[in-house]
Amino acid sequence: MSWSFETDPEFQCQLDWIAEFTRDEIEPMDLVFREPGDPWDPNSQAAKAMEPLRAAVRERGLWACHLGPELGGGGYGQVNLGLMNEILGRSRFGPSVFGCQAPDSGNAEILAHFGTDAQKEKYLQPLLDGKIASCYSMTEPQAGSDPGEFGCMAEQEDEQWVINGEKWFASHARFAEFLIVMVVTDKSVPIHQGASMLLVEKNTPGMEIIRNSAVGPHAEQGDGVHAYIKFENCRVPLENMLGEPGEGFIVAQTRLGGGRVHHAMRTVGVLNKALDMMCERALSRVTKGEVLADKQFTQEKIADSYTQILQYRLHVLYTAWLIDKHKEYNREVRKEIAAIKAATPGILKDVVYRAMHLHGSLGMSDETPLVTMWANIPELGVVDGPSEVHKITVAKTVLRDYEAAPGLFPTYHTPTQREAALKKYGHFLKES
Ligand SMILES: Cc1cc2nc3c(=O)[nH]c(=O)nc-3n(C[C@H](O)[C@H](O)[C@H](O)COP(=O)(O)OP(=O)(O)OC[C@H]3O[C@@H](n4cnc5c(N)ncnc54)[C@H](O)[C@@H]3O)c2cc1C
Repeated sequence: MSWSFETDPEFQCQLDWIAEFTRDEIEPMDLVFREPGDPWDPNSQAAKAMEPLRAAVRERGLWACHLGPELGGGGYGQVNLGLMNEILGRSRFGPSVFGCQAPDSGNAEILAHFGTDAQKEKYLQPLLDGKIASCYSMTEPQAGSDPGEFGCMAEQEDEQWVINGEKWFASHARFAEFLIVMVVTDKSVPIHQGASMLLVEKNTPGMEIIRNSAVGPHAEQGDGVHAYIKFENCRVPLENMLGEPGEGFIVAQTRLGGGRVHHAMRTVGVLNKALDMMCERALSRVTKGEVLADKQFTQEKIADSYTQILQYRLHVLYTAWLIDKHKEYNREVRKEIAAIKAATPGILKDVVYRAMHLHGSLGMSDETPLVTMWANIPELGVVDGPSEVHKITVAKTVLRDYEAAPGLFPTYHTPTQREAALKKYGHFLKES
C-alpha cells in the first residue's frame, strides 16, 4: 500500500457538504438545546428537531458510517470516518445527527456481534435507526481504571443470571431501552477471565437508579445523565449474556478501541474550531496601534497551535489508517489508540487555553463556545480510562521491541563503538 495524504475527490465532495451542513444546520442546535442528554435522548425536543437533519444525512448515504453495509452503514472505513468526525466534532449534536454517537455506536457493534436474533430484532434495528438510546455500564463507585476491583456479581440460578452490586457513571441509563453491563461471574480467576457482559432491559425488577450525576455544575443535583445504579437480585435470562461467560473483556474490546479513536477524531474538530476563533480574533483586535496578529507573542500562539494540531491530526488519521489496514484492534493498533487518547487532554489544554487567553475577558465568559470546550477537557482525561493507564499501555508496547544492554555499558557506548568503527575505517586516517 502506498502512502498518500490526499482525500478521494468523491469523498471530498461529501466532506464539503458535511462542513456546510454542520455549520448551517447542526451548530445552531448547540445554542438552543442545552440539556446534557439532548443529543441522545430520543424523547427530547432536540430529537424532534434532529429528525429532518437525520433524513438529509440518510439521503446523502452518510448515516451510521462506522458500520458496514450489512448493518445499513456506508462502510467507508476509519480514515473517512476520521475526516467526517473532525467536522462533526465542532458540535455536540454532530455525531447524533449522523448516527455515529457514543455509546450507541459501540453498543450496536456489540449487539451485532454477540446478540441473539431476538435481541437484534428488538434492539439493534431501532438503535441503528436512532429511535432508541442505550447504555454501557462498566465503572463502579469504588473502581474504574482497575477492573480487578470490580465487585458487581452475577450468579447463575436455574435459567437466570442474578445480578447484585453497584455501577457508577452509566451514561444515559435514565433514558436507555437497554444496558450492557459488565459483571463478575467467576471470582476465582483473574478479572480478565472472570468478567462477563449482560444485556439488562429497562425496568427490569431489581435495577434501580440511585441518582444521576452531571458533569460540571448543573441546576438540579442528581438530575444529570450519568447514573449511579444499584442491582439487588436483578434477574435476567441466560440468553442475555453477550459472548461466553468470562469473555466480558473480549466483548468490551469490540467497542472501546473504536470509541477512543472516535473521541480523538472529534477532538480534531474542537481544536480546529478553537484555532479558527483564535485567528479571527487575532486579525480583529487592535491593541497599541496594531492588530494582535502582528504581535510576535500572538504569532507564537498561532504557530504552536497549528503545528500541534497538525501533528495530532496526522497521528489520529494514521491510527485510523492502521485500523483499516489490519481490520482488527491488534497490538500495533492498540498502541496508537492509547497514545492519541493520552495526548488528547494535553493538546486541548494548550490550544483552548491560548484561544481563551487571546479573547481576554470575552474568552472566559459564557458568550463564546470556548468555556464549554475548556470545561470538557478533564472529561477527556478520564472517560474510557485515564491518561496514565493509556501511557502505561504505550510504554509497555514500545518496550517490547527492546532488550537490556548485553554488557556493563549501553550498546551505543561511544568508546566501544569507536573501537569497532576504527577497525572498519581507521586505515583512512593512517593514509592521510
Ligand atoms: C463524562 C463521562 C462519561 C462516562 N461514561 C461512562 C459510561 O457510560 N459507562 C461507564 O462504565 N463508565 C463511564 N465513565 C467512567 C469512566 O470510564 C471512568 O471515569 C474511568 O474509567 C476512570 O475511572 P474512575 O473514575 O473510577 O477513576 P479512578 O480509576 O479512580 O482513577 C482516578 C485517577 O487515578 C489515577 N490512576 C488510575 N490508575 C492509575 C495507574 N494505573 N497508574 C497511575 N495512576 C493511575 C489517575 O490519575 C486517574 O485519573 C464516564 C466518565 C466520564 C467522565
